[in-house]
Order: sequence, then structure tokens, then C-alpha cells
Amino acid sequence: MTVSTVSIDSAFFLQAFSELAAIGRDPSGQGYQRLAWSEAEREAHRWFRDRAQQLGLTVWSDAAGNSFADLESQAHRPALAIGSHLDTVPYGGAYDGGYGVVGALATAEAIQRSGLKLARPLRICAFTDEEGPRFGTGLLGSKAVAGTLDMELVRRAQDRQGTTLKEAMARFDLDLEDLPSAAQTQPNFWGYIELHIEQGPRLEQRHIRTAAVTAITGIRQVSLHFVGKTNHAGTTPKPDRRNALRAAAETIARFSPWVDGQEELVANPGQITVHPNAANVVPGDVRLDWDVRSPDPIRLNTAVQHLMAVAEDVSRPFHITVESQIFHDVPPCPMHRDWVEAVQTAADRLQFSCDRLVSWAGHDAGVLGRVMPAAMIFIPSRAGVSHAPEEYSTDEAMLDGVQLLAQTAADLLTQEEKS
Ligand SMILES: [Zn+2]
Repeated sequence: MTVSTVSIDSAFFLQAFSELAAIGRDPSGQGYQRLAWSEAEREAHRWFRDRAQQLGLTVWSDAAGNSFADLESQAHRPALAIGSHLDTVPYGGAYDGGYGVVGALATAEAIQRSGLKLARPLRICAFTDEEGPRFGTGLLGSKAVAGTLDMELVRRAQDRQGTTLKEAMARFDLDLEDLPSAAQTQPNFWGYIELHIEQGPRLEQRHIRTAAVTAITGIRQVSLHFVGKTNHAGTTPKPDRRNALRAAAETIARFSPWVDGQEELVANPGQITVHPNAANVVPGDVRLDWDVRSPDPIRLNTAVQHLMAVAEDVSRPFHITVESQIFHDVPPCPMHRDWVEAVQTAADRLQFSCDRLVSWAGHDAGVLGRVMPAAMIFIPSRAGVSHAPEEYSTDEAMLDGVQLLAQTAADLLTQEEKS
């Protein structure tokens, strides 16, 4: 195999990153408001397409509002896709998503300048609505490309102001009913590599410059509905109290230590709704929502079943019934083994330390990785903070990641076609 070396233009990357960082800042100065289908997010997409056009890339977009830019070569072959998303959570940071898109632009610039003979096109992707807080439709853009979008869910989607997703898309001349057509381009994707900040503390703590992600966690969200009997807090005799909140609390107290003793598993009791929610009333109706994550499908199943069993066990003595419902389910997605190796090989060549990490956050790569080879590169996040204005990675760390992406992409793009 011939070894091709590329080197990124640091000034190009930093300049482009600062241009994107000017779009969608919250007026208070506290982070970003580039929510999906906002003016700011669409402006970021326009900026991306303009920037890519200046590089001479072929710019296009699809029915999901995703933006793409192709560095053409051997157009009959499917493209190596690289990129991330341009939307943020409310009061989000400048790095989550945007870093990967700008890093992909700098990679295309480096590969174009290198004059390497490419065996296939390189495609930069800027996906729509990865985060999903506005409409509850996270990973919308990549799901549309993967053909795994739940159209029932997106038809029902509306934000807190009552604006439907259909209306929000129509403002930008897109028709919600056209979303499935975005999957038509999928055969034209060879695979996908996403560059991203870690959003956790592991790389910083271990003083490691980069990571190849081995798997993206599965996420299962479970709602436990405890039904007891609403009654007077003072006059109800102790043996007759059917306090649903007490059963919910016992569930948290019993299940959480079990999770602490498990490998590759996290579980978060994150939301509780108590009815009627008054100090002088024995609550007869409580909903407790959990978020359970594991990169291992068997561990994930076992944990969710155990959670439901614990809830029933602790409820029985209080004469409380429990109904469990899974309301969000994303299966774990292993990254492609050969591509994880490709990232490692490139890191070795660059003499960058490179860890192997599971991603405990969801990503577009976890959606596309179900229908095509996928890989991810992580760089350190300061203090592991993300989805907050304090989100930060140094320029040096960002440039490391871009250089690693460029080298990995160059290696894969110059690979001889297997006959
Ligand atoms: Zn992200």
C-alpha cells in the first residue's frame, strides 16, 4: 500500500471555525441558539454551502434540509462521507457539531490541495436537527438519509409554541411529506466518519490527544407508571396508605446501586410527575422516567428488564400497580472494525496518542452506522463539559482531530478498489 500524507491548513480551519462561531449566539452572550429550523441554524447551513462553493466543491441539499458538498472524483463510485451537524441545544456550545463540519471542510481543502488521486468522491455532510430538543425529533437528518425515520412521529411533532415541524419546514420551502425521499441518495454513500468533541472527561483526564470510537451507546427510555390511592395525608391509617411516590423512590434507591455495580451501563432517573403533587395528599399516581444506556444490546435488555422487575417488587408491599412503557429506543451501534483500525493506523502515523472509547452520547454516526460502515474520532473536551456555554476544546486539540480525520480520509480515499 502506498502511503499518502496530507497536511491541513491550520489558518483555514481556525478562520472558518470563527466564522461559524459568529452565527446564532444567544444575545445574552451565554452560548448558542442554533436550534433546528431556526433562522440561525438555516443561516449556518447557508454559510456552509457558500464556504464549500468557494473551495470549488459541488454543493447540494436534500428534502430533510441536510447540506452536502462533494469533492468530485470517480463519480460512479459511492462517496466517503465526513461531517456532523450545525444545530445546537438551547444555550449550547460552539463545538458540538460545528467542529465536525468545519473539520470536514478543512479536510476537503487539504485533500484537494494534496493532488492525491482519489478512488472515489469525498462528501461533506452537515446534518439537520441532530439534537432534537425543539420537536423531539433528534437525528432527523441522518435518519432521513438512512431511511429509518418514523413518519408517524415527525407528523405529530410540534414545539412548545404549538408550531408543527411541518410548518417549521415549510418556512424554508421544505415539505415534511418529502422527508422519505432523502433516503434515495443513500446508495451513493460508501460510509461515514464523524469528527466530534468527546463531551466527557476521559481523554482530558488520561492526557490522550484523540480517540477512535468503538461503539455508540444504545439508549432506552422507560416510563414507570405507579398507581396507588390518593388520600388524606393525616387521616389515612398507615396500613392503608398506597403512596405511589414512595414506591417510585424505593425503585430509585434499589435499582441505582445495582447499576453502579455493572460494567458498560448507566441509568438515570431523570423525570418524575407526581399527582396531585401536594404535601398534605398521599399521591396515588406517579410517573418516573428513566434513561438507560449501554453499548451492549444484551446488557441493555437485562438492565431494562431488571428495572421493571425492581419496580414491581418494591411496589407490591404498598399495594401499588406498575405499568412500564418504553417510549424511546435506539439500539447500540458498533463502529466498523476496519475503519476503527484505519483511524488508529492514521493516528500511529501522526504519532498521536489514540484511545478506544465508547460514545455515551448519541450521534449521526450511530444512525448511519446501521446502514453503512461508520467511524468516529473524538478530541478532549475541557472538564468534560458539553451542551453548555462553557463547552471548550483548545485550538491545538481541534487541529489534532482535523489532521487525524484528514489522514484517515486520505488513506481510505486512496485505497485500491477491491475487485
Ligand atoms: Zn453533536
